[in-house]
Amino acid sequence: MGGADRLADYKAKRDFDTTGEPSGAASTLPVGHRFVVQRHRASHLHYDLRLEAAGVLLSWAVPKGPTLDPAVKRLAVHVEDHPLDYFDFEGIIPAGEYGGGDVIVWDWGTWEADGDTDPVAAVKRGDLHFNLDGEKLAGRFVLVQRGRTERDWLLIKKDDDAAHGGWNPEDHPRSVKSGRTNDEVLAAPAQTWSSSDSHVPQSQTMTSPPPYSPSGMIPSKSK
Ligand code: MN
Repeated sequence: MGGADRLADYKAKRDFDTTGEPSGAASTLPVGHRFVVQRHRASHLHYDLRLEAAGVLLSWAVPKGPTLDPAVKRLAVHVEDHPLDYFDFEGIIPAGEYGGGDVIVWDWGTWEADGDTDPVAAVKRGDLHFNLDGEKLAGRFVLVQRGRTERDWLLIKKDDDAAHGGWNPEDHPRSVKSGRTNDEVLAAPAQTWSSSDSHVPQSQTMTSPPPYSPSGMIPSKSK
């Protein structure tokens, strides 16, 4: 399935005339190996784990957030694929919109599935083993479909050199993109997205996360 078809669920939930979120218009992009975790304060706090594959971001919402503690199994709700443009989204989703609230780029880096695994096929099977190389998260993880419904998965850290007992994501609250917390993003109107001029920067040509930006501003789109 192509990236555009895979985004049908994402598009159906959003009105792109009123939300500043990317519309996925530029999602026909080469497949890469980026991952991102966004800390998203919507009606309920959760962390969105997104893995780049097949031209989209495979996505899970993890209510308690990912951890490096191999003794902990985190509920991870499989949600609709997101467009690649969403990769470094940090800002405000307007109240009343789907997922309304504030979002920071909590972690990012690269990922790869174990061995020669096709990630999309592995997700279809409900069992994905993978490695993360991020600024906070690292080492081997598994996502396995296991719960009351098809959407319920577990995110588990494998016991390796990166494992860390008792590790709590809430102890590491700052954005890896801007250095800001969710509160700081929410409080700074300059970083609020508006549908008239907002567009996620052209991240698809990026081979590694961009350097830390002291201002925390989303770079303006240059045409
Ligand atoms: Mn979310």
